[in-house]
Amino acid sequence: MKQQTEALHYGYEKDTQNTMAVPIYQTTAYEFRDTEHAANLFALKELGNIYTRLNNPTTDVFEKRFAQVQGGEAALATSSGMSAIFYAIANAAEAGDNIVCASQLYGGTLTQASHTLKRFGIEARFFDVQNPQEIEALIDDKTKVVFFETLTNPSIDVADISAITAIANRHNILSVVDNTVATPVLCNPFKFGVDIIVHSASKYTTGQGLAIGGIMVERKGIVDKLKANPRYPQFNEPDASYHGLVYTDVPLPPYTLRGRLSLLRDLGGVLSPFNSWLFIQGLETLSIRMREHSKNAQTIAEFLESHPLVLKVNYPGLKSDSNYKNAQKYFENGASSGLLSFEVSSFEKAKSIVDAVKIFSLVVNIGDSKSIITHPASTTHQQLSSQELKECGVGEGMIRLSIGLESSVDLVQDLKQALEA
Ligand SMILES: *Cc1c(COP(=O)(O)O)cnc(C)c1O
Repeated sequence: MKQQTEALHYGYEKDTQNTMAVPIYQTTAYEFRDTEHAANLFALKELGNIYTRLNNPTTDVFEKRFAQVQGGEAALATSSGMSAIFYAIANAAEAGDNIVCASQLYGGTLTQASHTLKRFGIEARFFDVQNPQEIEALIDDKTKVVFFETLTNPSIDVADISAITAIANRHNILSVVDNTVATPVLCNPFKFGVDIIVHSASKYTTGQGLAIGGIMVERKGIVDKLKANPRYPQFNEPDASYHGLVYTDVPLPPYTLRGRLSLLRDLGGVLSPFNSWLFIQGLETLSIRMREHSKNAQTIAEFLESHPLVLKVNYPGLKSDSNYKNAQKYFENGASSGLLSFEVSSFEKAKSIVDAVKIFSLVVNIGDSKSIITHPASTTHQQLSSQELKECGVGEGMIRLSIGLESSVDLVQDLKQALEA
């Protein structure tokens, strides 16, 4: 089946009421038939619902459908994009280990990696996403993950996915990629050797800025990489917290299984069934929306590029952009999503433009159907030093736009009057 069809149908078996819409199973727990049934569920001899922190039928549809649409085998939904990222890393790395990350990252991911993971004893080592050769020298036998974003937020770089995964694979290290901005519609990183994909569902998946959530997807056949791999004893040795289960010995997708049975059980960042339902609604229109977001953003990028007060436009759909080649290689039909940034002469000029727009809303979000403007240096990236700002590709006069689904004629007009105010 084609992705567009799967996004509407996959993973939902109608229940006794035959509802067309996926029902919201708003429940904390589930009744067992008897003690034997309960014991079998806990022992994984039978699969079924136990408690909504571990599984829920509505969330199950979202997970199955998202995994399929993203071209993976299985998925674990989480309460936010940040928790999906944390679980994807914590499933592989422990105190004493390290991860190798692109410097160009979402602000929350950057602080999670460089500050919070550090407090848990996991060291983050950074490479320039424009220069994947830097990865090699950062790897040692304690490296558990290579982490990067396919389309970086907010610096708008397109990673050379194959170049990065080639290095990770040479060392038998898991690669984890954040595909939030590109979405499953524009990019399938599994085709280019990635092992795990994470998303913030709070962005394009919901599409209308309705809910916070995240999801982690594993590729088909990841067990072959984990099995007997000395980097990942936690997948090959008995788990004392789950009566000696060896994750690579059972015929279930191991990364998701351990994420659910160990991390979700003990850390509890579970997605609410209602939010799963909202994300299911969002998936139905994702392919159409991504086409329109990309088309609108291309028009706006071309307008900004032609404007004398704009120093530089970062949008991978522009031929002049240094990421154009990677966008053509890795994104479907070369469409480049709705995120773009541009630079003006100063911090003050950037602030004045943000204050003068009328249709764009000043919001720290992306992927809404309503257009959004942000000034990262004074908001999302305020905590970073000027050196850190520079390293993650955020200039002081940089404005980020998330182009929505309004008419591009109105959006161009709004930006024009704000630039010239
Ligand atoms: C928003 C975002 C996140 C964090 O997701 P939340 O759902 O807000 O926790 C992670 N990565 C990227 C690229 C994002 O845009």
